Amino acid sequence: PEHLSGLEPGFDVPALPGMSLAEVFTPALILDLDALERNLRRMSAFVQTHGMKLRVHGKMHRSVDVYRLQEQIGSATGICCQKVSEAEVFARAGVKDILISNEVRDPRMIDRLAQLPRFGGRIGVCVDAPEAVADLAVAVARHGFSLDVLVEYDCGAGRCGVQSAAEAVALARAIDEAPGLRYAGLQSYQGSVQHLSEFNTRRAAAAEAILRTTEVIGALREAGLPPETVTGAGTGSYTFETSSGVFTELQCGSYAFMDADYGQVLDIEGRRFDEGPWQNALFVLAQVISTARPGQAVLDAGLKSLTMESGLPLVFGHPDLTCTAVSDEHSQIRDPEGRLQIGNRLKLVPGHCDPTCNLHDYYVALRGDRVEAVWPVSARGRSC
Ligand code: PLP
Ligand code: MN
Repeated sequence: PEHLSGLEPGFDVPALPGMSLAEVFTPALILDLDALERNLRRMSAFVQTHGMKLRVHGKMHRSVDVYRLQEQIGSATGICCQKVSEAEVFARAGVKDILISNEVRDPRMIDRLAQLPRFGGRIGVCVDAPEAVADLAVAVARHGFSLDVLVEYDCGAGRCGVQSAAEAVALARAIDEAPGLRYAGLQSYQGSVQHLSEFNTRRAAAAEAILRTTEVIGALREAGLPPETVTGAGTGSYTFETSSGVFTELQCGSYAFMDADYGQVLDIEGRRFDEGPWQNALFVLAQVISTARPGQAVLDAGLKSLTMESGLPLVFGHPDLTCTAVSDEHSQIRDPEGRLQIGNRLKLVPGHCDPTCNLHDYYVALRGDRVEAVWPVSARGRSC
């Protein structure tokens, strides 16, 4: 492929298409395409059955190629981004429906945002303050395009979002009255329930957020500002938003790749998320570079290849092998029997998929043991 021409494996890229898994340079961010496609089809079946829109979260993978697959086989009808520069990568690539599920307040980034429709798609953004509406209106007037604007409501996570139904109504009215801005609805995302492991605890916490959201929707309707779109939900909660009957759109991201933190979340049947509902599709491939210390193997992947804010990585397929520590360029694996040898390859499941992906330039996409594609992490580093 053109985007890989002239690139040297082991320097520019960890692999080229056609290589076997054993030939991939390490550390490498690898995707199991069979598992990824299964995850996408499973979510697709869910949204089809329940009549929900699926606006997948692009901050998770930051990859145009993964998004295209989500469109082709995963029923994705749009993408979420958290940042303007990230959204710009997808807009330039021709993605036609992008929501910045976040606040944008730097006037220079608002100016860039107001220009994104020039790539031909529909662009949306969230607001939680009247001044943001005014700034957006000024920027839109400068560039002559229109933007979709959603009121963001803080339904319990305590991050961004207006704090009351009255503020939501006032903001919706301000958007509705601002020339060039289209009042597109409500965003209500409860990030802090997503990783609650126990099913009933998670359901109860989500129910509270949904109740508050329902009250805000009621107030908007009464004010003559019914939200056309009600968007939110993540991999840990989307079944609850769906059955609420008030959400129209899901913003799930991590379901596509899974990670160790989501792996410990339990579904309604008490199954771990990574043992039944979802499959691990994302790994950091590493190899053993030292067995000098008895009872331990040291791998060549560390903090520069996987992030640790959500815990230590799991060793895929080896419940008997435990990662005990990760430093800049090393991971330590407890191996009491001394089974691991120099050059042995292990697939590490990172604690948290999103920031891990952003550490790498490329995804090595495997079909079985064969490299089928090498995809750039298209929006890597685009955090402005
Ligand atoms: N929506 C918003 C606004 C988010 O911040 C996130 C993730 O943090 C998501 C959706 C997707 O969540 P997940 O990757 O847990 O599915
Ligand atoms: Mn995440």
